Amino acid sequence: MATFAKEFLALQDSILLKAYHRDLGATCACGKFAGLYRCAGIEHCFDNSLYCCNCIVQVHSSGSHPFHRIEKWTGSHFEATSLNDLGYLLHLGHHGQPCPNVSSKRSPRSMTIGHTNGYHTLCVHFCACHLTLSEPLQLCNHELFPASMNQPQSAFTFSLLDLYHYITLASKGSLYDFNASLVEMTNPAFPQDHRYYELGRVTRVWTHLASVRRRGQAHGIDDFIPSRRKGSLAIRCPSCPEIHFNVDLAEILSAGPFDL
Ligand SMILES: [Zn+2]
Ligand SMILES: [Zn+2]
Ligand SMILES: [Zn+2]
Ligand SMILES: [Zn+2]
Repeated sequence: MATFAKEFLALQDSILLKAYHRDLGATCACGKFAGLYRCAGIEHCFDNSLYCCNCIVQVHSSGSHPFHRIEKWTGSHFEATSLNDLGYLLHLGHHGQPCPNVSSKRSPRSMTIGHTNGYHTLCVHFCACHLTLSEPLQLCNHELFPASMNQPQSAFTFSLLDLYHYITLASKGSLYDFNASLVEMTNPAFPQDHRYYELGRVTRVWTHLASVRRRGQAHGIDDFIPSRRKGSLAIRCPSCPEIHFNVDLAEILSAGPFDL
């Protein structure tokens, strides 16, 4: 602690620098407009440059960072805005580019998406090429888990669901408190209730699917070990003797009293 105490002022200054930007007043890299926007927040671009409105949307479209938070310089301070407010569209199915088969009349769907840095409102354009691929599965292909299987309005990133799974296993933290942290990250000044019930439903489905995968049921393990009860999600101890798996009956019958 003493070694830190000597540097408290310098450390505090470097943290406070985040409230300011040394390039304020400069023009954006495109050379057309003033750089007033920056990527900030818990998850952000490593490049901390200031951009104009068009360029900051372009940087995040090409870098596929739809869940970064954006701030705008007002003249006296940075104010929270969002990629959605600046016109960002999330296109599914074409590496971030618009689907050539989407009708120009079809408007994007405004969705609430939960990520590890809170909730986001994003306008999503679904791909219209693959008629057999439903909207929920298109979302899953982009690692977004839908909150419902019928015209989903909300989704959660796979990263968020994995994070919750690890946190709840290690700390036994409740979903209510986990969601409260997400709500706080979304808008600390005016926290609003978000998708708690949807998150509860999705985490239960996510956990079930994980256990089906981990028990081998998703890979048809019953076909390889027919001696086990069909469809079982129980974990068998791999070193305990199990006939037809790691020992055969003759070996057990011929074993001495201390062999097993
Ligand atoms: Zn960013
Ligand atoms: Zn620009
Ligand atoms: Zn398409
Ligand atoms: Zn065992």
